[in-house]
Amino acid sequence: MTLKLPMYMDNAATTPCDPRVVEAMLPYFTETFGNPGSRNHAFGWAAEEAVDKARRQVAKLIGADRKEIIFTSGSTESNNIAIKGAAYMYQNAPAGSDKCRGHIITGNIEHKAVLDPCKRLEKEGFEVTYLEPGPDGIFTREMVEGALREDTILVTLMWANNEIGTINEVPQIGELCHDKGIIFHTDATQWVGKMPTDVNTDNVDLLSLSGHKMYGPKGVGALYVRRRRPRVRLVPLTEGGGQERGYRSGTLNVTGIVGLGAAAEISLQEMDSERERLLKLRERLEGEITKQLDTTQVNGHAQKRLPHLTNISFGFVEGESLMMACKDIAMSSGSACTSASLEPSYVLKGLGVGDDLAHSSLRLSLGRWTTEEEVEYAIGNIVEAVNKLRQLSPLYDMHKEGIDITKIEWQAH
Ligand SMILES: *Cc1c(COP(=O)(O)O)cnc(C)c1O
Repeated sequence: MTLKLPMYMDNAATTPCDPRVVEAMLPYFTETFGNPGSRNHAFGWAAEEAVDKARRQVAKLIGADRKEIIFTSGSTESNNIAIKGAAYMYQNAPAGSDKCRGHIITGNIEHKAVLDPCKRLEKEGFEVTYLEPGPDGIFTREMVEGALREDTILVTLMWANNEIGTINEVPQIGELCHDKGIIFHTDATQWVGKMPTDVNTDNVDLLSLSGHKMYGPKGVGALYVRRRRPRVRLVPLTEGGGQERGYRSGTLNVTGIVGLGAAAEISLQEMDSERERLLKLRERLEGEITKQLDTTQVNGHAQKRLPHLTNISFGFVEGESLMMACKDIAMSSGSACTSASLEPSYVLKGLGVGDDLAHSSLRLSLGRWTTEEEVEYAIGNIVEAVNKLRQLSPLYDMHKEGIDITKIEWQAH
């Protein structure tokens, strides 16, 4: 089989839509185009039926009841509705009072779609604890327990990290929160559709998921809102037609929702075999790269990680040059472009990875259509590029000669 270049190894950023999903969506653009809110004619009823089917498909994927699914535009919106909506509902003091409105616990390596709503709440009088993980990147029940206060109202921690794939102790943290009567939200964008999920045995109250991270369309997602034990209530952020139990007003994105439902059903059916296949490919990719190259480091916990993702730092190369030398592979680097400069990833920094290694790291995330041939190509390409770049590095030469370059006293200019 001939390789098609460039190849896609950035499935943690977004996934292609499964053709079966597209097919399921098509009739809802032109034929069954009704507004599910039109309760008095057949066009509306047909659309409502389609939305209801999708609601059941998404609920089944996470072990929820269909009434507990709120459709949104994606995980960013789901996180905002969950975090701000719960904070405003369960606050201890009204807006504008001098007292702390409530204490929230999160992590410092969360996605911006969690960190920024938390920062907003801080400005409004809530207090937020940003837990720091150990070098393995994992948040445990013990860490949350250590940060609890009398006035803690909400804990929000992601299920699996989008940069390093590490898996947090969600069921245990959820159990702790339930014991203490604290609402527990998890951003499960990278987890759902890939790993078995049951909101009841996993003790989750609020859960965010997104279509385009699980082979569905972009611009559609869902928020799970627990209805029993406890019945979670939220202050809505958007007001209007009162759709989605009043939590998310606005005419439903029927085509997107149908696509999300289809994606959920396919993911549930294929999850076990897909996980196994991708783990083998990831092990081959990661194993060969770290075997053929010295001075590399896999970031995050060695086992407690998503099976399709790896994040590797390469000593003595510059991340941007490495990306340039591997232009045929679409992947992410450990640097984030801000307006003027390259900033090392705050997630890697949060684990204690130094700036140099953070800059020289790559995130490769495999997906439903990744082939063995692509993995072999990526191994060859990355190993060759790193070797070439290191040949040009005097620091690497010194390292090979056994000089500890961290101990060198550089001469001042
Ligand atoms: C992609 C992602 C988001 C944002 O999801 P959208 O649906 O694109 O808004 C939030 N959290 C995590 C962990 C993600 O990976």
